[in-house]
Amino acid sequence: MIRELALKTRQRAIKRIRRKSPEELATSWCQEDLLYSGKGKAIFMILPTRGCSWALSESGGCTMCSYLSDSLLEDIKAEKLNKIFKDLISQYRIKEKTAIKIFISGSFLNPEEFPRESREFILEYLNEIDNIEEIIIESRPEYINKKILIECCNHIPNKILEVSIGLETADDYTRKYKINKGFTKEDFEKAIKAIKSLKRNFDIKSKAYILIKPILTSEREAIQDAINSAVYAEKIGVDRISFCPSTIHKGTVMEELWKRGSYKPPWIWSLIEIINNARKNLKIPTIMDTSGLGTPRGPYNCKKCNMKLKKLIIESNLTQKTIQPIKCNCYNRWAAEKELGDFTRSTNNIKYQVYG
Ligand code: SF4
Ligand SMILES: [Zn+2]
Repeated sequence: MIRELALKTRQRAIKRIRRKSPEELATSWCQEDLLYSGKGKAIFMILPTRGCSWALSESGGCTMCSYLSDSLLEDIKAEKLNKIFKDLISQYRIKEKTAIKIFISGSFLNPEEFPRESREFILEYLNEIDNIEEIIIESRPEYINKKILIECCNHIPNKILEVSIGLETADDYTRKYKINKGFTKEDFEKAIKAIKSLKRNFDIKSKAYILIKPILTSEREAIQDAINSAVYAEKIGVDRISFCPSTIHKGTVMEELWKRGSYKPPWIWSLIEIINNARKNLKIPTIMDTSGLGTPRGPYNCKKCNMKLKKLIIESNLTQKTIQPIKCNCYNRWAAEKELGDFTRSTNNIKYQVYG
């Protein structure tokens, strides 16, 4: 059922995609970030590819993700990709300790999405830049195995390789029926095991992305699910967690529900509760993605406190300290929704009926 819906929605979205050139799709930026060795810089780089194989498959892909809309939908030659990478990286004078995050809107370790020659070229190139300490890549678990990891690590003997995986939730039911992710906890654990088995020989780490508030989830369930998922990830040996609060991407099942008033991204108060819980109960670093915060399609409180809280979350990402909550009138609305939301699993409607 969810697959049919995801596939139909995806097919409609693909028809509407405005095709862009690889150069138009490629981009990069630099900002402060928390490295394993402390505060430093991170270069974020988006490289164009044909797109996520899972999203392109008959599954329709994940219910919250529209990265396919920013993909080429056709193969790109390794030489072209290498040139784009070189042009982007050479804009930076890397003087401080730096992490580089390579986003390809899919799986870096899947050779069908990202040519092996480019993988090798990029890793070797980055290995020569002294101040780069960490190279962060993303992959679904099915492409993660010892062989490919050893190949990658051998290109960057002096750097940390961090493999980020979109676990999304520790709950197999939610991952399958609400996110349509297409892999199980067992698959994830196998990938983490492969990473852990290489730690003796290489500086290799893992990161789990946890989605805050999948579709068909109440505010309270979303908070609890994120907390449970983080505890699970730490327990099986993940080195770092990145919480990703939902934002409404165009052309997704999540957007369809949002348009009908049956879904709303999480409150920023919920994110604070999750961060503070993680700071108290976990030993590994946890980061909250703040990109969509305070926007109409992202996590939202009210105009008065959105930006103040966003600033506090960014600070907490860097310091790993708990956030002291500020006062705002919207807090009680959130608290009531957390209490009442479970009855109908809707969000907006309850809020406005009660406080209207
Ligand atoms: S979330 Fe990841 S696996 Fe899912 S469709 Fe998007 S890029 Fe593909
Ligand atoms: Zn407020």
